[in-house]
Amino acid sequence: MEVYLAQPRGFCAGVVRAIEIVERALEKYGPPVYVRHEIVHNKYVVESLKNKGAIFVEELSEVPPKAVTVFSAHGVARSVEEEAAARDLPVLNATCPLVTKVHNQGKRYITKGRTLILIGHAGHPEVEGTMGQVPAPVHLVQSVQEVKALTLPADTPVAYITQTTLSVDDTKDIIAALQARFTDIQGPDIRDICYATQNRQSAVRDLSKLVDVILVVGAANSSNSNRLREIGTEAGVASYLIADGSALNPEWLKDARTVGVTAGASAPEVLVDDVIEAMRRIGPVKVSVLPGREENIEFRLPAELAAS
Ligand code: SF4
Repeated sequence: MEVYLAQPRGFCAGVVRAIEIVERALEKYGPPVYVRHEIVHNKYVVESLKNKGAIFVEELSEVPPKAVTVFSAHGVARSVEEEAAARDLPVLNATCPLVTKVHNQGKRYITKGRTLILIGHAGHPEVEGTMGQVPAPVHLVQSVQEVKALTLPADTPVAYITQTTLSVDDTKDIIAALQARFTDIQGPDIRDICYATQNRQSAVRDLSKLVDVILVVGAANSSNSNRLREIGTEAGVASYLIADGSALNPEWLKDARTVGVTAGASAPEVLVDDVIEAMRRIGPVKVSVLPGREENIEFRLPAELAAS
């Protein structure tokens, strides 16, 4: 079996930074360190940090007084920041800088008197965080149909922002529908919202031209991993989301001569290796890495951890 690895795949700079924040906090302050929400959506990552002494909680009320607390890469609402401040919790904020950038864009539009529209998935922690960061009501839209259903007058001055794990391609129809619906509309240049989402999606499109089956390594609750699988399916290739090698179903590969493998932004390379090992147990495998976009983006750590 020929296996092609997409390039780039797996960890993005925001995920690397978030994990490093937890690891350095554990080294500097000693365990336990409390993390609000899964630091990134990957069970393997969460379990390895748990083994080093991180404790994952969903609500700040579960964090004991004075305990070092990390906010996940997805960002949090202002109410969460306020609760942490009121409780005097020492907080390390692992929100991806690109998510913070979206928060700031939203705040700027509100300051300019615009009604804000967020393109994103209801219930996703990043969306909840963004809606809770801007000091005004936000209209969430997930589809062109939902744009049509908005009850705002057509001449309302509006602005849109988008969830970072949606790419230019994901949002273009919704943005076109918004532009058709409103006469006074502004939005950021979405090409620079998240380089990692766009690059991983472009790479899986390239992969889909070459292979019979696509395996996307990632967690079931990872928005960007699910999207990679959908892109493979939309391109007409049987595509499966797979957490690790133990989840490989030999049936998926029975008619495949070529298999493409990629990984969501929160999936570590060790899980890609694990899936390839599982394929080797089915039959001989020849692995090549496709040419793709080089990524050399790094985000700075919070000042209190940078020097440690
Ligand atoms: S996918 Fe993009 S926005 Fe999300 S953590 Fe990675 S770099 Fe940041």
